[in-house]
Order: sequence, then structure tokens, then C-alpha cells
Amino acid sequence: MSKIQSVAVIGAGPAGATVAALLAEAGIKVAIFDSGKRPPLLVGESLVPAIIPILRRLGVEEEVKEFSVYKPGATFFPTSSEELTYPFSRTKGNLPPYAYNCPRNLFDNALLRAATRKGARLVESNVSLEKGTRPDSVQLSEATLESTDGFFTKQPDMVIDATGRARVISRLLDIPSKDGERRDVALFAHLEECSLPCEGNIHIDRLRQGWAWRIPLPGRLSLGIVLDQKHLEKHGKTAEEQYDSFRGSDPILKGIAGDLKRITPVQRYNNYQLVSKRAVGSNWALVGDSSGFIDPIFSSGLFIAMDGAEHLAAAITKGTPNALRKYERYTLQHLASWHEIVSYFYNGRLLTLFRLGREMQNSTFGRVMDPHLQKHMGRIFTGAAATAKYSLGLLRIMTSYGIAKRDHRLLRIN
Ligand SMILES: Cc1cc2nc3c(=O)[nH]c(=O)nc-3n(C[C@H](O)[C@H](O)[C@H](O)COP(=O)(O)OP(=O)(O)OC[C@H]3O[C@@H](n4cnc5c(N)ncnc54)[C@H](O)[C@@H]3O)c2cc1C
Repeated sequence: MSKIQSVAVIGAGPAGATVAALLAEAGIKVAIFDSGKRPPLLVGESLVPAIIPILRRLGVEEEVKEFSVYKPGATFFPTSSEELTYPFSRTKGNLPPYAYNCPRNLFDNALLRAATRKGARLVESNVSLEKGTRPDSVQLSEATLESTDGFFTKQPDMVIDATGRARVISRLLDIPSKDGERRDVALFAHLEECSLPCEGNIHIDRLRQGWAWRIPLPGRLSLGIVLDQKHLEKHGKTAEEQYDSFRGSDPILKGIAGDLKRITPVQRYNNYQLVSKRAVGSNWALVGDSSGFIDPIFSSGLFIAMDGAEHLAAAITKGTPNALRKYERYTLQHLASWHEIVSYFYNGRLLTLFRLGREMQNSTFGRVMDPHLQKHMGRIFTGAAATAKYSLGLLRIMTSYGIAKRDHRLLRIN
């Protein structure tokens, strides 16, 4: 394989902008294409601390801070009367003890500006791709090549699919994927501003059916409801009807957000758990949601997307088939680890463990063990758990043997 000198990145979301910025910085000729067809409101507003080093590397942290709400931790309500708060400052290590909650359009624009500042060329066009002449390869259509206005005079050496759920390369080449077991729908909108029990934190409320997020944004609250489609049908036909009716009738949501005025339309996301079985091919690679998305519960999506983009940029800069295969292994493993962590939330084991941890603080053994457990379990919230083998192993043990005598089903998500 000769050195990769030119790359087309399709999709200017967080994954595309990050990989384009880092490749341009490494001296590779990069065009980043975007259709500009984004909904007015985008999910993915809460960040985790593990993303901060990437923002710093891209030189955008100060800008992001300006338009965001400072996020010092995460708060869970397994029941309406029980609060479990995890301040990021409890996880000792290299990560900063904070993250941000940010309006996604501003966040994406900041990343895209970083990519163009570093030398990537933005091409505003809806890319069309074709199968390439070599097996397992792709190429830009003639019209897409022309849309670069001479930036690319021939096919680029590599094409990166960063189109999120559009998954243009996987669809073109029929790359197999695996669906997650949940069939949830997420409905979300912005409501008027209100104060929350733990300022700045993301709040996760376990509901009788499903769960909800509350994310404080500047001047507003993002409220998302995640539940099985079958629970929503009786609440109306449109997303707005279902969102408002469910919010007004669920006993927990009614108390915390039933009266707040909705200030945006409602967005709906269906069946989003999906992971590709491959992430690289003969002249292509997948990054971000196009390689896979697990679940919104731990706000890990943007981190997985941008961390994957960092690894992909390093592999392409190295340019060897081995480096690309290593990227593929890393990406699929990262997604699989999050899949496992997320399953402990839905089956009730994680909330049972957190509850037990809090009760144990009253015993001598509990007080001795607590700092160790806080450090490792806390990595779930900072985003670092899935790549920290020891933390993941400990989580596995604690969510099975550690809670052995407790009935975790009492805290599962219905
Ligand atoms: C309900 C829900 C809640 C979530 N909440 C969070 C959260 O709180 N925190 C978090 O970190 N993550 C969250 N996520 C995940 C997060 O939104 C995604 O992981 C993230 O947006 C992935 O970024 P991306 O760059 O891969 O894709 P995207 O952000 O989807 O970007 C894809 C880009 O490709 C462009 N595009 C598509 N097709 C074409 C084409 N043919 N030609 C040109 N351009 C094209 C689109 O216009 C878009 O700009 C959530 C996800 C869901 C479903």
C-alpha cells in the first residue's frame, strides 16, 4: 500500500470534522463534504470528560466553553425519592473533572471551523458514491468529483464514511451490521429553563416505563424520553402529541417537567442501536455513528465518534494495512465494551450496584473499598471505562458477584 496522500471525508459531524482536522494537520490533502441537511435540533448535547483532551488538541475547548453549560457530574434517580450523584472529581486520573453540555449546532460548527482552519477543504454537496473498479472499493461519482471545483482532479486515495446513520458506504457495499436488542424510541425537545437538583449535571430519571434525560443548556432544558415504542402508541400519533402527553401523564415526569413550556418541535430517533461488522475496506473506512452507535444513556456517543476519529487519523497517517486493521479492531472493541456497560444499566445491575455502594459507606469495609470503587466505576461517567481493562473487569465482577443477593430486576428499565 503506498502512502495515503488524499482523503475524502463524507459528513461534517463531530467524527468527520475531527478526522478531517487531524489529517489536514498531518499534511494530507482532505476535502470534507456535507449535505447541510441537518435537522434544526440535534441530540448529543452532553459531553463526557474523556472528550476534553480531544477538544484541546483541536484547539476548540475555549470556544466550546463560551456557549456551553459547565458539567461537573451526573445524577441518577433510580426512583423519584432516591438520588445518586457522581461528581467527575471523584475519578482520580488524567482526565479533567468536568465536561460541558452544549447546543449541538454550535458544537459541530466549532469543530468544522477547526477542520478548515487546519487546511481541510469544505465542499457543500450531497455526496454520491459508486462501487470502485477494485473489489471492496468505492469511488466518488463524477458529479461529486466536479463539486470540489478542481480540489480533487482524480479519485482520492481513501474515502471516509462519517455520515452518521446515513451509512453511505455500508449501504453501497452491503456491509453487515448487528442491531442491539433494545427497540427504543427517543423523543426529545427543548423546554423553558428551570433549576435542577444538581446544577450543571446531566440528570437521568428512571421512569415506570423507560427513562428520561434532563440536560441543562444555556437558557433552556433539553428533555429526552427513551422508551419502547409500544408504550407511546396510546399517547397520540405525532411526535409532539406523544411527547407532551407522556410528559404530562407519567407520574415522575409530570412532577419534574410536566408544566414547563416546550419551545421547540419534537425530534424522534428510532432503533438507533446498530454496529457495523467491519470498519475498514480496501480504500475506505467508517468512523463515528457510521461504524456504530450503542445507546444515549452514558453520553458516550460523541466521545466514541471523536476518539475513533483520532485513532483513524493516526492509522491513515501511518498508512499501513496493519495500522488500519488495528483501528478496526479498536473501534469494534470500543463499541462492544460500551454495549456491555449499557446492558448493565438496562438490566438493573448497575443501579443496584450504585445503591449498594452508597449503603456500604456506613460500614468499615465499605469505607475502605469506596475510593477504589469510585475511581473505577466512575470511569463509566467520564467515558474512560470502555478502554480501561481493569475498570471494565471490576464492573463485570461487581455487577454479578458484588450484588449477588440483591434482586437487580427491581431496578431494570422497562
Ligand atoms: C437519542 C440519542 C441521544 C444522544 N445523546 C447523546 C449525548 O447526550 N451525548 C453524546 O455524546 N452523544 C449522544 N448521542 C450520540 C451522538 O448524537 C452521536 O454519536 C454523534 O452525533 C455521532 O457523530 P457523527 O459525526 O458520527 O454523525 P452525525 O453527527 O450524524 O453527522 C453526520 C453528518 O453527515 C452528513 N451527511 C449524511 N449523509 C451525507 C451525504 N450523502 N453527503 C454529505 N454529507 C452527508 C450529515 O449532514 C451530518 O452532518 C445520542 C444519540 C441518540 C440517538
